[in-house]
Amino acid sequence: MKIARNLAFFGGTFDPVHNGHLKIATTLVDLFELDRFFFVPAFHAPHKPESRPTSGYHRFAMLSLATADESKIFVSTLELDHAKSRYSFDTLTELKAGYPDDRVIFVMGADSWMDIRTWHRWDEVLLLTDHIVVSRPGHHISFGHVSETIRDRIADVRGERVEIRLGQTPQIYITDAVHFDVSATEIRRDVQENDVLDRTDDVTSEVAKYIEKYELYR
Ligand code: ATP
Repeated sequence: MKIARNLAFFGGTFDPVHNGHLKIATTLVDLFELDRFFFVPAFHAPHKPESRPTSGYHRFAMLSLATADESKIFVSTLELDHAKSRYSFDTLTELKAGYPDDRVIFVMGADSWMDIRTWHRWDEVLLLTDHIVVSRPGHHISFGHVSETIRDRIADVRGERVEIRLGQTPQIYITDAVHFDVSATEIRRDVQENDVLDRTDDVTSEVAKYIEKYELYR
């Protein structure tokens, strides 16, 4: 019998990918014994119509550079290939159909969790697969905004730092194993205000060099 793999998918704009995103990937791979972790850069976040992201080619290139040495961490072109805005509901449905023998796990930060009701068919999204919600400095996590059916799925594993075994049925895991206070908005602002990127603690040196070379965020 084929053994199901644990495949995590982390959607976002990644404009640019920063060390907070990378820390989430490496921590979750170890904590949840993931076989593969995929960054899924969005063509354009449908619920953020006011913000226009940098070209998907640049965002993909930065993600590839930042993850090149990580054997279990990949970059998926799934959303970029569609070349139009997509809802997470459609992406997750496609992923589930594409990996019928594996466990599909969706990853999001605390701010996305608290905004989840703005997502298209959000309640179905939460019931479709497993989810991992990661804490984010400055963002409180509460559960009053979701239905009881969804609350019943929550596995609060905050405080746990050793291997967490996924349950038999899909759950929404809440973890505080990652603490990295950075946002892509701050990095873009920093590049605009300074000639050179002086936040190399927040992005890898390859990403910093790429931003300089292609004069992004000027
Ligand atoms: P922006 O400042 O442009 O909104 P961002 O830093 O929030 O960008 P996104 O690409 O929008 O990054 O985020 C993708 C996902 O990563 C979201 O689910 C978000 O909650 C999560 N995330 C981003 N940064 C962190 C962080 N420092 N800690 C935990 N989660 C994070």
